Amino acid sequence: MADTSFDVVVIGSGPGGYVTAIRAAQLGFKTAIVEKAYLGGICNNWGCIPTKALLRSAEIYHYMKHAKDYGLSADNVSFDPKAVIARSRGVVKRLNGGVEYLMNKNKITIIWGEATLDGSGKFTVKKTEAAAPKGALGEGAYTAKHIIVATGARPRVLPGLEPDKKLVWTYFEAMNPDKMPKSLLVVGSGAIGIEFASFYRTMGAEVTVVEVLPQILPVEDAEIAAVARKQFEKQGMKVLANTKVTKLDKKADSVVATIDDGKKPVTLEVDRVISAVGVVGNIEGFGLEKLGVKTDRGCIVIDGYGKTNVPGIYAIGDVAGPPMLAHKAEHEGVICVEAIKGLHPHPMDKLLIPGCTYCHPQIASVGLTEAKAKEAGKDVRVGRFPFVGNGKAIAQGEDQGMVKVIFDKKTGQLLGAHMVGHEVTELIQGFVVAMNLETTEEELFHTIFPHPTISETMKEAVLDAYGRVLNM
Ligand SMILES: Cc1cc2nc3c(=O)[nH]c(=O)nc-3n(C[C@H](O)[C@H](O)[C@H](O)COP(=O)(O)OP(=O)(O)OC[C@H]3O[C@@H](n4cnc5c(N)ncnc54)[C@H](O)[C@@H]3O)c2cc1C
Repeated sequence: MADTSFDVVVIGSGPGGYVTAIRAAQLGFKTAIVEKAYLGGICNNWGCIPTKALLRSAEIYHYMKHAKDYGLSADNVSFDPKAVIARSRGVVKRLNGGVEYLMNKNKITIIWGEATLDGSGKFTVKKTEAAAPKGALGEGAYTAKHIIVATGARPRVLPGLEPDKKLVWTYFEAMNPDKMPKSLLVVGSGAIGIEFASFYRTMGAEVTVVEVLPQILPVEDAEIAAVARKQFEKQGMKVLANTKVTKLDKKADSVVATIDDGKKPVTLEVDRVISAVGVVGNIEGFGLEKLGVKTDRGCIVIDGYGKTNVPGIYAIGDVAGPPMLAHKAEHEGVICVEAIKGLHPHPMDKLLIPGCTYCHPQIASVGLTEAKAKEAGKDVRVGRFPFVGNGKAIAQGEDQGMVKVIFDKKTGQLLGAHMVGHEVTELIQGFVVAMNLETTEEELFHTIFPHPTISETMKEAVLDAYGRVLNM
C-alpha cells in the first residue's frame, strides 16, 4: 500500500509550490506535492512562460517588418496565428515535463487531485478531470506534519466587466485566442495587461488600454512609466489613464465599451476585451475557513517565514499576497521550509523583489521609486541615463530607453533602480544583487561594466546621480 503520511506536503505545484517541495526534499523531509490541474501552476501554463513565448514571436515579427533598418530585406512578412500559439503551448508542454522530472528526481510524491484541509495535519484529496502524471497517487486521506498552501491566484472580476471567455477574456483566453482580434480593449495597465497589449499591437491589432489610475504601470516609477507610455503611443497604441470602463455591451461578435474619463463618457466598439484588473488568491473552498486560517483582502496572512496563525499551516506565493510574482513565490517557499527545518533564513524583504514587464520596450525595477523614497522621508540623489548615449543600444537599433537610480543622499545607499528599454529585464539583476549587498555609490563607482553593453547605462546612471556622468 502507498505511503500516505509525509513530513511536508505542498498544495499546488506552481513555481512557489514545486520549488518549495524541492527545497524540502533537499533538507531531508519526506515530501509530497498535491496538484489538481497542471504541473507548474499558472506561471508555466498560463502566465510567465507562455506570454514570453508569444512576445518572442511578436519581437521577431517586429524585427522582420523592420529588416530594412538593418540593411536586410524581408518581403511579404506575415504570420500564422495558430502556429504562433502552438509554439507557445509547445513551450508549456516541455516545461510540464520538466517539473515532473524534477519531482521524480527529488523523490517527491505527486498526489493528483484537489486537496481539502480536514484538521491538524490531515487532508483529503479528491479526483479531478485533469490527466494524472505516471505514478502519481490519487484520491484518499493523507497526513503531513507541515502543510504549505501554495494554491496561487485567479483573475479578479469587476462587476459589469465579467469575463465570458468569448468576447471578454481573461489571461486564459488571451493566451489561446480562437482568432486574432482586429481591435482590442485592455482594461488595466499592470504587467499582465500591458504585456498582452504589446503582443496584440505588434501583431497588428488596434489596441486601447484603459487605466483607472493617473499613471499606467501604476507600481513603476512615474518617469519610467511616462517613457514607456510614449513608446507605446508611438507604436500606435491608444492609452487612456485616469479613465474607467463602466459598461460592456456584448454584440454577436464584438463589444461596445463605455469609457468614462470623468468629463464625458464615450463608447468604443472592439472585437474583444481583455480584463486585466488584477488577481485574487485562491483561498476558498478547501478548508482554510474551517481551520480558522486568517485571511485579508483575498490572501492568507503570513509572517516573514510563511507561517499562518494556525500551527502546522503555512502559505507561500500568490495566495500569500503581493507582489504576485513567480520569483517571490519561489523565494518565499525556500524561506518557509528552511525556517521549518530551523535554519534561521532571512525573512522575506519585499523591497528586494524585482518586477519585470516584458512588453516592447521592456520595464524592470527594484526597490523604491523616487516618489516612494520621498514619501518615506528620504533625502535622495537621483541619476538618469538615456539609451541614446549608449553605443551598444544604438548598434542594436534600440536607442529608446533609460535607467534611473535613487540613492539615499545621507548614506549613499542604493534605494531603487528603474529601467525601460531593450532587454532591461535581463539587466535589473545587477542592481538586485547590489541592493541585496546594501551597496553604496562608492562600490558601484569601482565596479567595471563590460563594453560595449547596454549595462553601461546602469553605471552611467549611478555616475549621473553624483554629477560624474561620462558619456552624456
Ligand atoms: C498572464 C500572466 C503573466 C505572468 N507573467 C509573469 C512574469 O513574467 N513573471 C512573474 O514573476 N510572474 C508572472 N506572472 C505571475 C505568476 O504566474 C504567479 O506569480 C505565479 O504563478 C505564482 O505562483 P504560485 O506557486 O503561488 O501559484 P500558481 O502558479 O498559481 O500555482 C498554484 C497551483 O495550485 C493548484 N491548486 C489550487 N488549489 C488547489 C487545491 N485545492 N488542490 C490542489 N491543487 C490546487 C493550481 O491548479 C495551480 O497549479 C504572470 C501571471 C499571468 C497570469
